[in-house]
Amino acid sequence: MSRFLSDRFATLEAYVPGEQPQDMQYVKLNTNESPYPPSPRVTERLASGEIERLQLYPNPLYARLRELLAAHCGVKPENIFLGNGSDEVLSFAFLAFCDKENGAVFPDVTYGFYPVFARLYGIPFREVPLRADFTVDPADYKGNDAMVVLANPNAPTGLELPLDAVEDIIRANPDRIVIVDEAYVDFGAVSAVPLTAKYDNLLVVQTFSKSRSMAGARLGFGIASPALIADLDQMRYSTNPYNINRLTVAAGEAAQEDADYYLTNCRRIVETREKTARAMAELGFILTDSKGNFLFAKHPERGGGALYQALRDRGVLVRWFDKPRTADWLRITVGAPEQMDTLLKTLKTILEG
Ligand code: PMP
Repeated sequence: MSRFLSDRFATLEAYVPGEQPQDMQYVKLNTNESPYPPSPRVTERLASGEIERLQLYPNPLYARLRELLAAHCGVKPENIFLGNGSDEVLSFAFLAFCDKENGAVFPDVTYGFYPVFARLYGIPFREVPLRADFTVDPADYKGNDAMVVLANPNAPTGLELPLDAVEDIIRANPDRIVIVDEAYVDFGAVSAVPLTAKYDNLLVVQTFSKSRSMAGARLGFGIASPALIADLDQMRYSTNPYNINRLTVAAGEAAQEDADYYLTNCRRIVETREKTARAMAELGFILTDSKGNFLFAKHPERGGGALYQALRDRGVLVRWFDKPRTADWLRITVGAPEQMDTLLKTLKTILEG
């Protein structure tokens, strides 16, 4: 920290992304990336002249991409906001809808960026304990005096909150924003997007990072009433109007035009997830019913930290959250079938040792 950093950030704890180690070639199952490349149409589109136009700013309306996403979501372009990753959409939402008096509330086990945004912007927040089995008790989110933030499916548990429970929460907080973070929705969960037509306090957030194999492009989007989208635009035009670069806009359009390609990949990932989950259960693991592109698993006789390290030593990288409620668990990204075979073989060796 330099002596110039503002006092208000002196104790800020930044988000810690999953490791990207360079010391050896790992089977990398720690950051929920897709094992598959983006659609070939993305490659074609990027090679067809977009690079030569990089001297120009992007058009900050992103009209074509918003039209494509609106058609995909069954809404209008004015219901779509684009962010530099869904992290940016979330960041703008905390900035726009919360302040010292208007805090945020989210589960104690969820995406680790929510408390970081809250601290960054000086927003009071409450972390509501999930039940012992990591499910959300909807009653905890009724009549709240704060913005509600729910990842659905949740991370790192993978658990889905049924849509009727989501709707109950939205209905019970008519004067508060409810954010439903659907980063993992394309792997088998039910989306709350249709509810955006009915509730002006709902913001659904999705991303190209997981299902569309574009984590490196940084593209996320929000779906909400035009008034909420206008609020997010105020944040964007007050910080970074050209928040999505030209290459990412072009890549996003091509990916969305080839929706069948990524939806097929999602189905493959779901199949691999279910197969791997069964094999891990046979090895004695306890797993949540994950609806994401990752598994959340623990072994009754092995600590999470020890398993994480034993896997890492053998070249398999998974995510371990060393916090009281998650320290026994591993979050394992669903990779390609061959990667999961390596994972299973390695786990078997470790457990036999
Ligand atoms: N929400 C959740 C629940 C996530 O796990 C992630 C991925 N780390 C994000 C949002 C952000 O994803 P991105 O910024 O890549 O869209």
